[in-house]
Amino acid sequence: MSLANGLTYLAIPGPSVMPERVLRAMHRAAPNIYYGALPDMVSNLVTRLKQVARTDGHVAMYIANGHGAWEAAVSNVFSPGDLVLVPATGRFAHGWAEMAGVMGVETEILDFGKRATIDLDTLKDRLEADDGRIKAVMAVQTDTSTGVRNDIAALRAAIDETGHDALLMIDCMASLGCDRFEMDAWGVDVMVAGCQKGLMTPPGLGFVFFSDKADQAREDAKCVTHYWDWRRRIEPPYFYQYFDGTAPTHHLYGLDEALNMIDEEGLENVWSRHASIARAIWAAFDHWGSSGPLEVNIEDPSIRSHSVTALRANSEKGTALREWCETQAGLTLGIGLGMVEEGPEWHHFFRLGHMGHINAQMILGALATVEAGLKAVDLPHASGGIEKAAAVIAEESKS
Ligand SMILES: *Cc1c(COP(=O)(O)O)cnc(C)c1O
Repeated sequence: MSLANGLTYLAIPGPSVMPERVLRAMHRAAPNIYYGALPDMVSNLVTRLKQVARTDGHVAMYIANGHGAWEAAVSNVFSPGDLVLVPATGRFAHGWAEMAGVMGVETEILDFGKRATIDLDTLKDRLEADDGRIKAVMAVQTDTSTGVRNDIAALRAAIDETGHDALLMIDCMASLGCDRFEMDAWGVDVMVAGCQKGLMTPPGLGFVFFSDKADQAREDAKCVTHYWDWRRRIEPPYFYQYFDGTAPTHHLYGLDEALNMIDEEGLENVWSRHASIARAIWAAFDHWGSSGPLEVNIEDPSIRSHSVTALRANSEKGTALREWCETQAGLTLGIGLGMVEEGPEWHHFFRLGHMGHINAQMILGALATVEAGLKAVDLPHASGGIEKAAAVIAEESKS
């Protein structure tokens, strides 16, 4: 008999759990889009978004998902024939590069596989050998398919050590509002994000943050089109120009409330909460996997994401576990993404999203559900992962 009725938990890595406060803020009649409260709120939103990204630079907002933000960023920086270097640590860097390729940008991928971070020596060797053609390095902070967290400050330092003047473009889609990110301090020139993960707002807003140096690249960028042009969206004289047309009114109310929640908690606390919860999750999975086939995809905890964990069941029962959790217990886990082609092995992979509006009781509940599921589908594991996770949560609450 299914025990799934009740409050469910969508633990996929985006869209994330939408807070009631955000949904309530969106539930209202349409506002005037020409003057009044909405335009005032939006100029405030710009300032607040930049605070979350830790930048004094600029942000252009688009009615788009993350893919739209990818295209916006590429179009403002490149011309056809330019070369971009893409260190890839999972599916998402490839996705961004494919998009640039379609726009006529030459892409060179340094592939570090699906279980590792960027090897900075390899990257430095390539930059040192460059004859001035590489215009930018395009990378992902948290790769949502592999669960790796790349060290962006170290990436910038490596580029600087070679003396190369490439722009640094970072995808923070799965990490903004979850993992520490310091755009200015880390020397990031372009950063892309969406609203539906750490920013806890229904999918539909894409953001491109950019530095003055990146805006100089925009000067000669031939890929740029009227709609994607970030300059037209910065401090525009008319409100409609923020979105080049009708503003996404209700998303803006939702985002405003989500940013209120982040402000109330404090951004540093938001990051620590994600880190503590991630450690509890790893404690459970690492313990379960200490006997039997289950593994966290990224072995080294120091490069694991704090917002998504990719798992290897190393058994076709991975899908059975996911389905059991959803249909029997009300917990929706994410499918594996980009790890293998469709086929029997596809069932070996699944993910747990832990981004945004999540707390200790939700995660302890989710983990206990996974442990019940492991037993129900008979996936061999060491019993007692929950105790490990509970011990981490108890310890983390003291700091
Ligand atoms: C979710 C995600 C994207 C794509 O976002 P969409 O809104 O699905 O287009 C890109 N990069 C990363 C790292 C993501 O997690």
